[in-house]
Amino acid sequence: MKKKQKNILPRKSNTLKLSFDTSWTYAPAPESRTSATIQPRYDLFINGKWTKPESGKYFETINPANEETLSEIAEANAADVNKAVAAARNAYEKYWKKLPAKERGKYIFRIARMMQEKSRELAIIESLDGGKPIRESRDFDIPEAANHFFYYAGWADKLDYAFPGKKTASLGVAGQIIPWNFPLLMAAWKIAPALATGNTVVLKPAETTPLTALKLAELIQEADLPPGVVNIITGAGETGAALVQHPDINKIAFTGSTEVGKMILRAVAGTNKKLTLELGGKAANIIFEDAPLDQAVEGIINGIFFNQGHVCCAGSRLYIQESVANTVIRKLKDRIETLIVGDPLDKNTDIGAINSKKQLETIHYYIKTGIQEGAEIYESSCRLPSKGFWCKPTLFLNVAQSSRIAQEEIFGPVLAILTFRTDDEVIEKANNTPYGLSAGVWTDKGSRIFNMTRKMRAGVVWANTYNKFDPTSPFGGYKESGFGREGGLHGLMPYLHLSNLIPNSTRK
Ligand code: NAP
Ligand code: MG
Repeated sequence: MKKKQKNILPRKSNTLKLSFDTSWTYAPAPESRTSATIQPRYDLFINGKWTKPESGKYFETINPANEETLSEIAEANAADVNKAVAAARNAYEKYWKKLPAKERGKYIFRIARMMQEKSRELAIIESLDGGKPIRESRDFDIPEAANHFFYYAGWADKLDYAFPGKKTASLGVAGQIIPWNFPLLMAAWKIAPALATGNTVVLKPAETTPLTALKLAELIQEADLPPGVVNIITGAGETGAALVQHPDINKIAFTGSTEVGKMILRAVAGTNKKLTLELGGKAANIIFEDAPLDQAVEGIINGIFFNQGHVCCAGSRLYIQESVANTVIRKLKDRIETLIVGDPLDKNTDIGAINSKKQLETIHYYIKTGIQEGAEIYESSCRLPSKGFWCKPTLFLNVAQSSRIAQEEIFGPVLAILTFRTDDEVIEKANNTPYGLSAGVWTDKGSRIFNMTRKMRAGVVWANTYNKFDPTSPFGGYKESGFGREGGLHGLMPYLHLSNLIPNSTRK
């Protein structure tokens, strides 16, 4: 798809006169679909086999960029959940918990290597099913997912060194539920640490993006993982609820909305199930007047428009110090004009399709709310494709701190812009939402970075960068963004019982 590129070079300035034509286009550079195999229909992956759903029902997963059906997906009900949990229990008791840790590690390494080998196919399928630009699935989602398997493979036989003075024991069967914004990466965040710590798994991917998890099931089958160690069951919210309520589950790991997270918290209250919740966010990205402004603008663009703003830690609130507000806003307006919105499979695309019609409606609802609340809207002048679900990169200026677009998660390419004068003022404003997942600080001064990071109630605070991830770093929230950490050494803990090697009573 050809997109008009305007203003890619600096606007007219007093010192630089551009004497050549700045309006030009990129030639389309589409990734070929032919290297991706998608079956017309997928059953449930239970006990190492593809199993028909008890209900006989299937639902469609579509490509949100053109609304075409990609495949039919089995809908698991409570009876299927029972089967999957029984398979995971059996594999845990008979095989997985007795397997020497280094052998577990070898399986996990094998999965990581196979993901790398199939990375191109996985990237294409991720972009087709979810709408994200191929550049992101190719350069971020898939390599990062493989890295998680590599990283946790290394921990499998070193758990005794991970927690000195403690004895570690696996929990049993983990029920894992993931959202649609990073489908394969979230599956990796869940499955890799669970296997490394000796647990077996039943995973439920999101309804709109099940394909890469099902491709992962194919890899797991090829990797010869013992049957039942990983089970992947597809379905809607009811399937997830049945998994949460199953009495033979030892641990629930959930990533998704705060609303569903609260329901899950209520459902496991009073049971022995361990729980981690990775929920929503409303991150503040803060620019001080001493920041390198061009670098900060790029970071802000990346922070909110990366993956169409379908990012729990998206920098969706921008706080600019008053003295540089006009400059930064002008640079942001210029920059969003150059963002290419369109075909997710085109390697030039910056912003792909919104994941579903429902999510697009949510985003439109918030854009309407922002206008009604009196904020000033500024959208890119790009043209959107006629089919599929699309949203222009959108800025809101003069946003009030109490406004809903500054307080609630929109989960789309919409940035609320506010200003501040002092450090204390911005700390108070940044912390003033129900969430606390992430934040960003842009400044030249190291002391200011340390002051801000100490006082911000957010699980991750990036300084002079944004949206950087690594399997070795723990990730997780404060307040209504959830509890528990995924990634790094901390990510092992939610899947283990830790007991003292030397009982307290014998200690001198
Ligand atoms: P969601 O609606 O909460 O769904 C998440 C998963 O839970 C999906 O698989 C969903 O199935 C399932 N589900 C729905 N209702 C359920 C129930 N009653 N019991 C058990 N499972 C249920 O969230 P989403 O819209 O997919 O994802 C967006 C949200 O995820 C955002 O709020 C975002 O901030 C959050 N997120 C957080 C992190 C983090 O690390 N903190 C990372 C990524 C995303 P269906 O797909 O069939 O509805
Ligand atoms: Mg889809």
